[in-house]
Parts: sequence; C-alpha cells; structure tokens
Amino acid sequence: MRNPEGLFKVIDARRDELIELARALIRFPTINPPGEAYQPCAEFIGRRLSERGFTVEYVRASGTPGDSERYPRINVIARREGAGPGPCVHFNGHIDVVQTGAGWTVDPFAAVLKDGRLYGRGACDMKGGLAAAIIAAEALIDSDDALPGALEISGTVDEESGGYGGVHYLAERGWFSQPRVDHVIIPEPLNVDRVCIGHRGVWWAEIETRGRMAHGSMPFLGDCAVRHMHAFVDRLERDLYPKLAARRTDMPVVPSGARHSTMNINSIHGGQAETRGYPAPCVPDSCRMVIDRRLLIEENMEAVKGEVRALLDQLVREREGFDYELRDIFEVQPTMADRNGPVARSTAAAIRRVMGRPAEFVCSPGTYDQKHIDRIGKLRDCIAYGPGILDLAHQPDEYVLIEDMLTSAKVMALAAESLLNGTA
Ligand SMILES: [Zn+2]
Repeated sequence: MRNPEGLFKVIDARRDELIELARALIRFPTINPPGEAYQPCAEFIGRRLSERGFTVEYVRASGTPGDSERYPRINVIARREGAGPGPCVHFNGHIDVVQTGAGWTVDPFAAVLKDGRLYGRGACDMKGGLAAAIIAAEALIDSDDALPGALEISGTVDEESGGYGGVHYLAERGWFSQPRVDHVIIPEPLNVDRVCIGHRGVWWAEIETRGRMAHGSMPFLGDCAVRHMHAFVDRLERDLYPKLAARRTDMPVVPSGARHSTMNINSIHGGQAETRGYPAPCVPDSCRMVIDRRLLIEENMEAVKGEVRALLDQLVREREGFDYELRDIFEVQPTMADRNGPVARSTAAAIRRVMGRPAEFVCSPGTYDQKHIDRIGKLRDCIAYGPGILDLAHQPDEYVLIEDMLTSAKVMALAAESLLNGTA
C-alpha cells in the first residue's frame, strides 16, 4: 500500500460534493413498492459517471415483478477501464427505499442536513453508502492515473423486495460473474468499522390447516381449522422453539440474538372474513399461517423444512381430523465469504488504516443482494461495507452521519486501490 494520505486529502476536499451527491440521491423518492422514480434516479447516476469517463449502460429488468411502463425496473451499470490489465472492483448499491411510514419529524425526501447528520428515507439504507462509493471511485481515479484493472459502479433496484428486478436479474445475465467482475463491495449500512461477510438464510412458507364448516351454534357438527392451527402452534412452542434457541452458529451475526436459528410467525388468518363488521357465524374451515424461518450456515434447507413437516405429520397421526398443506413461498441459502479473501482482507486493512482500530467481521441477520452475487453469479469475493447505523435502516427519521460517509469513502477507495494493484 502506497502512502494513502494524498488519496485521503482528495476525499476530504470533496466533503461538500459527497454531501450534495447523497442529498441529490435522497431527493428521488424511489419507494418500493411500487418502484417510484427509478428511471430518473438511475439516469442521474449514469449522467454523472459518464461525465467522469465511465461507460454507462441501462438495463431494464423487463417482465420481473412490478415492472411496467409506469414503473420500469431500470438499473444502471457504469464501468471505467484502468491504465492496464487487472481485476475489476465493483461497487453495488440499491437505489430503492422502503415506505416512509409514520413518525417522521422531517420531510423524508427533503434531505435535511442538521448537526452533522443527513436525514431522509434511504439516507442510511443506502444512498449515503452509494454516494460514498461513487466519491471513493472518482477520487481514486483522479489521484492515480496509472491504476490498472477496472472500476464498476451499479445502482440497482428492488433490493427491498428480493432483488428480482435488480441484482438477481443482472446476475443471471453475467453482470456479476468473472471474468467481468472479481470483487464486489455492497455499501449497505453495517456500521463504518464492520466488514459484513455474509448473511443467514431464509425459508418462508405458508401452512394451512383445514376443517369443516358448520353453524357456529353447533361447532360439534363441524371441525375448527383454527383449533387445529392452535395445536400446531402449541407443538412449535413446546418442541421447536427450544431447539432453535439452543442451536448456535459460528457466523458472527449481529445482533448476537440472531446467532441462533429463529422463526417468526408472520401472520395467521383463519375463518370467514367479517362483512361490514359482522363476524361470520361459522366454524372456520381453513386457517393459514406464514412462517419466516432464518437458517444458520451450519443448517441444511431440506432438514429445516423436514423439521416443520415432521411436527405436522405427527399431528396427522395423533390428532383426529388434522389435515394440512405446506407451501414454500421463498427461500435463500445462507452465505458467508472467506474473511481471508481479498475483498474482506483489504477492506479490514483499510479500516485499520483509516480509523486506527481493527475491523470487526460480522454477518447480517437478514439477507441482501449478496445472495444473488454468490449463488447466481458464482462470485464468492463479495462483502457488504458502508456507512450508516444498521439499526436506523427502515426507521422514521433515518439518517447517516456525514463523518461516517467520509470515513467509509476513504476505506472503500483504499480497499479498491489495493485490490486493483494486487497488493491486498
Ligand atoms: Zn439496504
């Protein structure tokens, strides 16, 4: 690593530019769903980067969920070749944000600057990180014209709804695979001194218990699907939850409560719908539950499903009239990059150099776009690193610290430099 002071100076001098870039990104109300303002936001990023020598391409994920003429799923990918052959470092940021929700004390899309903080929906997750990555790449290019390899920056959509119109779509078409790309940094808000090497897996499923309808005054003539579901929930409480809590992972998941297997019951719907406030006087013939099971890297997806199915099958044998259906909704395998791999190692070294303290390696309790880069792109050298306090994501009055954006821009620039020069 050459002396990085010159590089840091270039980034410090662009502090105001960094703030204005993040503010400009926040002002696009890219709410997902439905996928508002994707096109102008992508074009804003594309215009900026093409003025700085990047080759810019727009990829519309036609036919993916939510894509329409009114809400086109537009992604932007910019690439700049260096002075000679070498690897490609790619910064990937999602431009979509979640709903604003209630409880804001500032306009969520006004990009209010106050006390060293930049407020807005997406400030933390993750337009602050995307702005920092863009400034990092530009500063690196401007401070070293002998830089080999290539730099890529992408602004992708739909991360908050699974990434199907964004990184998933692009990964299926080779945008996140070698030889095009070698190392990926996703500036998600994992805290400025942490390198996130992976995430737990997910299994979402719907379970339906069935009964038989009858008049509510004569329930003995029917069979109540809600009572069958209750019997299942009771099994979960007694048999499954203690097991999940006892299972620990070696993944450094934060917060540490998520270092176990977990399962949320997202919803239960049973019985006939109420009509204008009048409950139906019937025995429910159906009850549906959606579960959200989070898997550890040590767990196996089929075994996780089998564990739930075994409890249901046990009830079929033991409980009269018990009948069920289990439907998969969504699943993602857990993933974890090598903490000694080039991108994790160089980012950790850069954190130490910029912040003067060792980096912490973490994993995320939930998933993000790394899953598509790993599983579809077959690119293992991918991490999440960026400014922003993880807990603030999706909250009212979400903000990012200006200092954190600046720090992370230095870390990303330095990490990219050592990856490109092969000194990582
Ligand atoms: Zn995010």
